[in-house]
Amino acid sequence: MNSNSVSKGILKYCASLIVLFLATSSIASEKTDVKDIRYWSSPGYTRVVIDLSGSVEFSSKRLTDPDRIYFDLHKSELAKEIKTTLPVGDGLLKAVRAGQFDAETVRVVLDLEKIKDFKTFILENPTRLVIDVYGVETAKKPEVTTTVKRRIVIDPGHGGHDPGAMGPTGLCEKDVVLDIALKLREILLADPINEVFLTRDTDIFISLEERTAIANKKSADFFVSIHANASPLRKVKGIETYLLNWTNDEEAMRVAARENKISLKKMKEMHRQMDTLGMILNDLSRDSKRNDSIKLANYIQRSMVSTLNNGSIYKGIDLGVKQALFYVLFGARMPSVLVEVSFISNPQEERLLSDESYRMQIAKAIAKGLDTYIDSTPAEQKVAGL
Ligand SMILES: [Zn+2]
Repeated sequence: MNSNSVSKGILKYCASLIVLFLATSSIASEKTDVKDIRYWSSPGYTRVVIDLSGSVEFSSKRLTDPDRIYFDLHKSELAKEIKTTLPVGDGLLKAVRAGQFDAETVRVVLDLEKIKDFKTFILENPTRLVIDVYGVETAKKPEVTTTVKRRIVIDPGHGGHDPGAMGPTGLCEKDVVLDIALKLREILLADPINEVFLTRDTDIFISLEERTAIANKKSADFFVSIHANASPLRKVKGIETYLLNWTNDEEAMRVAARENKISLKKMKEMHRQMDTLGMILNDLSRDSKRNDSIKLANYIQRSMVSTLNNGSIYKGIDLGVKQALFYVLFGARMPSVLVEVSFISNPQEERLLSDESYRMQIAKAIAKGLDTYIDSTPAEQKVAGL
């Protein structure tokens, strides 16, 4: 089986037995623990996450009568404290079950109700296997009498035990981006057309995969993840906006590696895999409407730069729209971007980020970018919620 058919198998043709090698170089001699199984569920979309102690190989197969998908995790052991049956009952999945299939294999079974398809990918540090399950879409007739709503999910990065990047005087990314997100929510809510959700509105930790799951569960029209940048070079500063895509720009990879909490080496390995298994990325971003994400990223970036330049506060440096493999954007089903609002590692920009009025300018600029995007979108697309 060549690598391409592996990726197709994983993502599209799940009826046949497939094997994905997660371990990129070393062969683990010890068993991998299957530590936990979590899920987020909604009528059209469910995300299941299997938490692992390290890399594993797995195979997967869909069976009928009853309809189910199983994942065999090789050289694995089920942690004793794990809950082995999770009743889901959301119309897509009846339940998720896990068991020690044999001495070497943990089998996780998704008992299906009615699904359209599913896709699988791996996130590292800690290693987790993510399974996105999609329901059969029912055609929605646009109701003329209903006011069109814009549903926006704002995602302030980090939180809780994860402070994110830290400035020279100790300013934490998690606090800065939360404040910007709260301000952005307030600005957006001034327009009754907007419905706004935050992935967190307090100082709590939320995993990257949960943030995307929240946006998908809410059927958001837009997903905006807010971060502050950092560089080992103190003099580096500026504003940049990202969307999900493969890149060969090492700086962009470095930013994504930091936000993904993985090493640059791991990031490069992932790029090599993605390059070989090009299908995976196409599928991961299939729903994210890449052209719309590019457009949204451009409007937000332009608005950020021009707002800050028009204000007397600071002449923001335009680092442009870039792309990289950010975990938090994997599997997002709507136009989605990640904004690096300034460099907290730069003494001047750290000082600015600690200033309430600068944070307010940034929030206003992101809101304006979103508005400009909406205004530029044809009316029929708005009705269709595109
Ligand atoms: Zn961040």
